[in-house]
Amino acid sequence: MKLTLLGTGSPIPAPDRAGAANLVQVDGCNLLFDCGRGVLIRLAAAGVMPAMLHRVFLTHLHSDHVTDFNDLVTTRWAMSPVENPLPVTGPSGTARFAARTIEMLVDDIGYRIAHHDDLQWQPGCDVEEVQGGVAWEHNDVRVLAAPTDHRPVAPTVGYRVEHAGAAIVLAGDTVPCDGLQRLCAGADIYVQTVIRADLVRSIPSARLHDICDYHSTCEQAGATARDAGVATLVLTHQVPPPTPGSAGDWVDAARSSGFEGNIVFAEDLLSLEV
Ligand SMILES: [Zn+2]
Ligand SMILES: [Zn+2]
Repeated sequence: MKLTLLGTGSPIPAPDRAGAANLVQVDGCNLLFDCGRGVLIRLAAAGVMPAMLHRVFLTHLHSDHVTDFNDLVTTRWAMSPVENPLPVTGPSGTARFAARTIEMLVDDIGYRIAHHDDLQWQPGCDVEEVQGGVAWEHNDVRVLAAPTDHRPVAPTVGYRVEHAGAAIVLAGDTVPCDGLQRLCAGADIYVQTVIRADLVRSIPSARLHDICDYHSTCEQAGATARDAGVATLVLTHQVPPPTPGSAGDWVDAARSSGFEGNIVFAEDLLSLEV
C-alpha cells in the first residue's frame, strides 16, 4: 500500500499546505480520505484525476475536510465520457451533504448540459453512511470504520485500510477514544491530526482556545500510538501552522508520551509505503 499525504494543513491558510486529504493506493484502487482545500491540485501532483478515484471516504463534515468536495464532484462529472457517479462513504449526514452540494452546483450543471451535446446527465454521488464495522471491501482490500470523538462535532468516524497483513489508519479529527484505539491496534501507519495546546493557548483568541477540547495533542497522539503498538505515527493538520524549523519540537512532544516507533512530521505530497 502507498499512502500519500495530499494536504497537511488546518483551517488556517498556509502557503505550502493544502487542506486535509490523504490518498491510499492499493491493489489498483485510488482511495481518497477527506477532500479539503486544494485537493484536486494535490491529486494531480500524485498523478490521479477525479475520474480515477474508486471511493472517497469522509471522516466528518467540518469544512476543512470537505471544502473541495464540490470541485471533486464537478470535475469528475465534467471530465468523464460516461455517467460516473462518485462513490462516497461517510458518517451519518453525508448523503444530505452530497445532495446539498449538487444543489449548490445547479447553475454550473445547467450551463454545461446546455453547451455539451454529449453531456446530458447530472453529476451524482453514490453515498454509503457508516458508523463502524466494514466500510468497504474490494478483493483483498478492506476498509474498517469506527466512531471517533470530535464532539460537539458528531458523528465522526476514522478508517483503517487493510491489505496483505498491512494496515494504515486515517483517524481524522479526534481525541483519544475506544474507537480510535481499536482502529490503531497493531497498525503500520497511524495518521493523526494534531494540535500543540501549549502554542494554541499562547495565542490571545478565545475562539482558537475552543479547539483544545476536541483535537489530539501531539502527546495524546503519541500515547494512542504507544498503547496500540503502532509502527509509524504521522503528525498532520498541525495547529497552529508550524514555523520553519519547528518540526523537531512537534516530534519531541509526541515522543514525550514514551512512544518508541517512527514519528513522521507531515508535509504535503510525502509518501510512505507499507
Ligand atoms: Zn474537525
Ligand atoms: Zn480538521
